[in-house]
Amino acid sequence: MNIHEYQGKEILRQYGVAVPRGYVAFSPDEAVKVAKELETAITVVKAQIHAGGRGKAGGVKIAKNLDDVRTYAKELLGKVLVTHQTGPEGKEVKRLYIEEGCPNIEKEYYISLVVDRATSRVTVMGSAEGGMDIEEVAAETPEKIFTEVVDPVLGLTAFQARRLAFNIEIPAKLVNQAAKLMLGLYQAFLEKDASMLEINPLVVTGDDKVLALDAKFNFDGNSLYRQAEVRELRDLDEEDAKEIEASKYDLSYISLDGNIGCMVNGAGLAMATMDTISYYGGSPANFLDVGGGANAEKVTAAFKIILSDPQVQGIFVNIFGGIMKCDIIAEGVVAAAREVGLQVPLVVRLEGTNVELGKDILNNSGLNIIAANSMADGAQKIVNLVAGEVKA
Ligand code: ADP
Ligand code: MG
Repeated sequence: MNIHEYQGKEILRQYGVAVPRGYVAFSPDEAVKVAKELETAITVVKAQIHAGGRGKAGGVKIAKNLDDVRTYAKELLGKVLVTHQTGPEGKEVKRLYIEEGCPNIEKEYYISLVVDRATSRVTVMGSAEGGMDIEEVAAETPEKIFTEVVDPVLGLTAFQARRLAFNIEIPAKLVNQAAKLMLGLYQAFLEKDASMLEINPLVVTGDDKVLALDAKFNFDGNSLYRQAEVRELRDLDEEDAKEIEASKYDLSYISLDGNIGCMVNGAGLAMATMDTISYYGGSPANFLDVGGGANAEKVTAAFKIILSDPQVQGIFVNIFGGIMKCDIIAEGVVAAAREVGLQVPLVVRLEGTNVELGKDILNNSGLNIIAANSMADGAQKIVNLVAGEVKA
């Protein structure tokens, strides 16, 4: 789960991490009111969307007076901001963060914390190349990225934090200040069950301060049950409507950019199905795990969600009937296909208990359902059918 920059900075404040003062605003009037209260020489008006790259896309404005604040707030609110992280469709700006401007930035740095799956440990990364896309730095000048792997028992040690600060060339007199800030970041990351925390940029100012100028948090969805405060920060406007609908039915659904809708039970089988579709030259429109106990209601909901995606030109159902028997699943698929008035080709591959009964139900349904004999067979069939559709 993601949150907005202003929410992230609110959390960081609780952990003693230095961030500029600022407040959220939902209208130009509010923006001006907040800017007045801040009483700073320069005010920064920042678009709040769940994506980075706002600066380059014109979503971060420096205002010299209250008139500027109003002008920028009007300009940004309601604007669809397209950054390199939003995709071409962009994201509509509905909130602004009005922040104290930092007038004397000497240098920008990069700091992030992630859970490294390879070592199963939290890793702190730092670079002197702040304000840049870290993926670019990693690709072109990997030697400019320094890492510290955190021992889960010891936590991030002051020694490691200082070493990282030295490595990224924070001025010597500010190393302790930067190290303290990093320890605060680690504590916030740990206690809030974050999966990623990125400060890009971390800045050093002319008056010898070390500040987090941006904050991007990502939280582990599996921990949200015990993170009530974090849950409160969820902004459904920023999430995919199909994914929200799926979560109501306890379906694991992730929207992708292909055109073959997939309905599968089990996350491993779902991944393998997507791979197989790609192997035969197709492109999956989603990841969808309907879970072990998929009943007709769930299958119908899943169908509706898949079909609500205008990109979907065919559906591949790939289900192993273990806990649920194949005939029950086939009945669910047929009922769902009838209910939603299916218009696109549907290939179904069933395996497991009562598979023959299940296939009979599909074949005798009177619907245009193509039964497949294996995963490879099914993937090939749907890829070919969709390719035919596209040509026609
Ligand atoms: P994004 O990563 O989405 O582009 P940032 O919050 O990193 O957004 O802002 C982009 C750039 O704008 C920063 O690298 C920094 O140079 C500048 N900036 C952001 N906030 C402030 C601030 N409070 N004062 C001065 N400059 C800022
Ligand atoms: Mg940034």
